[in-house]
Amino acid sequence: MTIGTQPSMLRVTVDGKAVELPPGASLLDAVQVAGVALPHLCKDADGPALGACRTCLVQVEGMRGMPASCYTPVVDGMVVGTQGPDVVAVRKGVLELTLAMQDDGVTQGASEIAQVALEHGIESGRWQGRVNAHVDESNHFYRFDAAQCILCGRCVSACSDLQHIGAIGIVGTGGSARIAAFGDDPLGESSCTSCGSCVAACPTDALEAKRESDAMREVSTVCPYCGVGCGIKLGVDGDQQLISVDDDPDNRSSMGLLCVKGRYGTSFVNHPDRLKTPLIRRAGELQPATWDEALDLVADKFIEHRGRFGAFSSAKATNEDNYLIQKFVRLLMGTNNIDHCTRLCHSPSVEAMLAQLGSGATSNSYTDYEDAGCVFIVGSDTSSNHPVIASRIRRAVKEQGVQLIVLNPKRIEMCDQTDLWLRQYPGTDVAVLNGMANVILRERLEDANFIESRTEEFTVWRASVEKYTPEYVEELSGVPADLLRQAARLYANPGRGGSCLVWGMGVTQHTNGLGNATALLNLALLTGQVGREGNGVSPLRGQNNVQGAGDSGCIPDALPGYQRYTDDVLDRFSDAWGGVLPSDEGLRATDMVESIAQGVVRCMYVVGENPALTDPNLAHANELLAELEFLVVQDIFLHETAELADVVLPAASFAEKEGTFTNSERRVQRVRQAISPLGESQPDWQIVQAIALRVAARLGVEPKGFDHADAASVFDEMSSLTPILGGLSHARLDREGGIQWPCPTSDHPGTERLYQDEFPRGLGKFIPVDQVAPAEEQPDERYPFILNTGRVLYHWHGGTMTRRVAGLEASFPELRIALHPTDAARLEVADGETVLVASRRGRVEGGAFLTNDVMVGAIFMPFVRLKESAANWLTNNVYDETSRIPEFKVCAVSVERAGEPQEWRHNDGSRRRGKHKQYW
Ligand code: SF4
Repeated sequence: MTIGTQPSMLRVTVDGKAVELPPGASLLDAVQVAGVALPHLCKDADGPALGACRTCLVQVEGMRGMPASCYTPVVDGMVVGTQGPDVVAVRKGVLELTLAMQDDGVTQGASEIAQVALEHGIESGRWQGRVNAHVDESNHFYRFDAAQCILCGRCVSACSDLQHIGAIGIVGTGGSARIAAFGDDPLGESSCTSCGSCVAACPTDALEAKRESDAMREVSTVCPYCGVGCGIKLGVDGDQQLISVDDDPDNRSSMGLLCVKGRYGTSFVNHPDRLKTPLIRRAGELQPATWDEALDLVADKFIEHRGRFGAFSSAKATNEDNYLIQKFVRLLMGTNNIDHCTRLCHSPSVEAMLAQLGSGATSNSYTDYEDAGCVFIVGSDTSSNHPVIASRIRRAVKEQGVQLIVLNPKRIEMCDQTDLWLRQYPGTDVAVLNGMANVILRERLEDANFIESRTEEFTVWRASVEKYTPEYVEELSGVPADLLRQAARLYANPGRGGSCLVWGMGVTQHTNGLGNATALLNLALLTGQVGREGNGVSPLRGQNNVQGAGDSGCIPDALPGYQRYTDDVLDRFSDAWGGVLPSDEGLRATDMVESIAQGVVRCMYVVGENPALTDPNLAHANELLAELEFLVVQDIFLHETAELADVVLPAASFAEKEGTFTNSERRVQRVRQAISPLGESQPDWQIVQAIALRVAARLGVEPKGFDHADAASVFDEMSSLTPILGGLSHARLDREGGIQWPCPTSDHPGTERLYQDEFPRGLGKFIPVDQVAPAEEQPDERYPFILNTGRVLYHWHGGTMTRRVAGLEASFPELRIALHPTDAARLEVADGETVLVASRRGRVEGGAFLTNDVMVGAIFMPFVRLKESAANWLTNNVYDETSRIPEFKVCAVSVERAGEPQEWRHNDGSRRRGKHKQYW
C-alpha cells in the first residue's frame, strides 16, 4: 500500500496521522500504512480477511461499535483510533477470551499470540482453557496440537486460498472443534502436500515445524531445487547450522509460496555425509588428502589429457561457478567439450526455440499464467515437478477463471482442475499438436495478421498438417476427435487474454523431443500466442539454475549469453580472457559419455552432476565412466559417480556461498551465504580458479581473470561480456531484487516478456514435423509394457540431496511401480506386492502400486534410486538426433510377480497393506 496524492485515493486519519489509500483497501491496510502496530491474529499478510478473531478492533468516529479493521472497507474521510482506553480494554478482553481457547492460556514463547498478549500486558490467561487434547504427529515435517489452537482459520485459508489445495478444514463444534484433514484422516495420510503454508500462517504454534531448536538469524536466498526459483529465508544458528526455512513474500517469482522441498528440504546441507576434505584414490581406495595434493594431481592429469578432455558443469551451482568452469575448459583446456544437465531435460526445447524464434528461453513471466484466458500444460506433472507454479495455475483457474487444457498420458493432479484432459498414447504428442493445428486452420481460427507479419514458411508447414484430421489423430493417439477440437478452439480463442503454453520433460525426453517442441512452437506461431501479456511459450526448467548454467556458457555450441563462435565474438572473449579460444563445437553431454569408448574423451571433470545414476541405460553408462583414465568429481556428497573418481573435491553447498541463480522466467536472483563452508569445502568458483591457476602455471601462460576475490567480481566479468546480463550486478540485485534478462544496461528495468515486436531471428519460423514411432522400442510379446519415468514431489532426480532429508525420505521411502489395476489383475499382482520390471538392458524390483492414473499397458517409476533401484537401469540410451537428449519416457519392459504382498509404510510409522495416500 503506498501513500500518494492521486485523485481516486481515499483519505483516512489513523491515530491523528493522515494517510491515503486506493478504493477497496481495508481499515487494517490504513492502520498498517500509518505504521501503527495492531494485532490481527486471523489475517495472514498474504491471505484474505476472515474477521474471525476480532483482535484487530478499532474505533471509527461516527460509527457504532468497534469494527474488525481487517474486514471493514475504508471510506473517504474516516477518522480511526486504535489506542483509546475503551478500544484497548475491549481488545485486551478479546485477547484474553482468545487465550482461553488454549489449554494453558499462557503467553510464553515466540508465537504471534504470545507476543501480542504481552504487548497488551497479559501475562497469563484469566480463564480456564478448553480441554482438547488432540495431537497429530503423523506428518513428517510438522505437528498439530489442538490445545494451542484458537480456531482462527488462518491455516485453512493458507491451504485453500494461497496454495489452493484444500487439505484441511475445521471439524466438530464447541470445545471439540479442531483443525483436521478431509475425512478426519491423520494429516500424514491426507492430501496435504506438506508445503507448510499452514504452519507459517499459524499465530499460536498449534501447527509447528518439527525441529530441535530455533534460528538466531535469517538470510534471504533462493531455493536449491527446481527452476521456479522461490525465495527462501534460511534460519541459522551459529556459523554452520541451518535450522529452518521461511517463505519470502517479497520474492517476485514465488510471492511467499513454497513447496515441501523448499520449506523442509534443506537439511541435507548439514548431513554427516557431506564431503569435507579432498579425496585421492590410492591403492584402489579414496583417501583423504590436502587441497595442495589434490589440486596438483588434478592440474597434472588435466594437462596430460588436453585434447581428450570433457567437463560437465552444474545446474545446481551458481552462474559465477558455471561461468568460471566454462572459461577454464575453453581457455586452458582448449576445448568446447562443456555441457550440463540441460542435455537431459530441455535441450530439445532450447534447440527448437533457437531454430524457430532465435532465442532459447521462456518468453513470458509467471504472472502471465494468471493474466491468460487459457493455460495449456503439455507433458508436465506440474504439481510434482514445479509445485509453486501448480499453485499459481490453480489460483488462476479458481480465482481468475483461467481455463486449463492438459495433454498427458498419465493422470496428474492438474487434471482435477479441468474437463479438457487429452490423454494420448505415450510418444504421440506430435500427432495431437498437429491435429490441433489442423482444426485451427480448418475453422479459420489462426491469427492471420500475426502469420503474415511475424512468421515465415507458413505455406509449406500448412501442407504438412493437412493429413492430421481429428479422426486420424484419434486413431494415432487415442485422443477423441471431439476433445481435440475443443482444445484447439480454446487454445486459439480463449475468450479473454491469451493462451500460455507450458511444457515439461514429458515433451522433451524422447528421441523425437525436438519434433515435439517444434510442434508446440508451430501451434503458438499459428495462433499468435506469444509476445503479449497473458500468453507465451514456457518450458518449465528442471533444476534451480539450469537456465543460468546455459546463460553462463556451459553449452558446447556457444559462449556466455548464447554468443556463437563468430570471429567477432571469439576476438572479444580472447582479448578479455587473455588467450586463444577453440571455435569448433564441442561434444554434448550424452555424446561425451558415449565417446569414451572410442577414446575421444579419456578424462573428465564432473561438477555437481551424477551421470552414473542419471544417464540412461546405467549398466552401459557405468561401464563407460569406469573406462576413463582420469575422473575428477567436485560435489557435496560422495554419490555414485564420485565413487568412481580418481580425485573428489569437496564443494560448498548453495547455503555456503554468494552468487546468483537464474530461474525459469529468466529472473536473475541473489544467492547469499548463510553459513561458512563445512569442513574444508569451498565454493565451486574458487576451486576451479585454483585449478586454473595451477594449469596456467604449468602451461606457462598468463590468462586474465582467474584472480577474483569474490563472486561479485566474477559476475561483473561475466556481465561485461554478456549483453543480456550487461546491466546487472550483485549490488543492483541486492538493491532491487531479482531482475529478468535481457537487461542490457544499468538503467534497464529487465524484460518481463520476450518477442513483443520481433523475434531475435527476425521472423518466427514454421517447421514441418511428422509423428514418428518413439525410438526403436515398441512393446512386443516379450516386453509388453511401456515404462514412463519422472520425478515425484518428495524426491529430486537421483535423490542425492532429498534422500538425505529425513522427512522427504520417510515420505517416499520405497520404490513404487505404478501399474493399472487391469494389468495387475491379469498378472495376478496385488497392491504392494513386489514385482520385477525388466527391459533389454536391466532389471529392477519394487512394490506394485495399483492406480488408474496410468494407462493400461503402461507403468511409471521415478528416476530416483529408492531401495537401490533406479529407473535408469531400464531406460534406453538412444538419443534425439539433433538435441541428443535420451529417450527417458518410453521403453519397452516386462512386469512379473516377484514376491509376496508387502506392507506400505505409513507416515505415522504404522504399516498397513496396500494403502497409501497418493503416488505422485
Ligand atoms: Fe523450491 Fe521449486 Fe518448491 Fe519453489 S517450487 S520451493 S523452487 S522446489
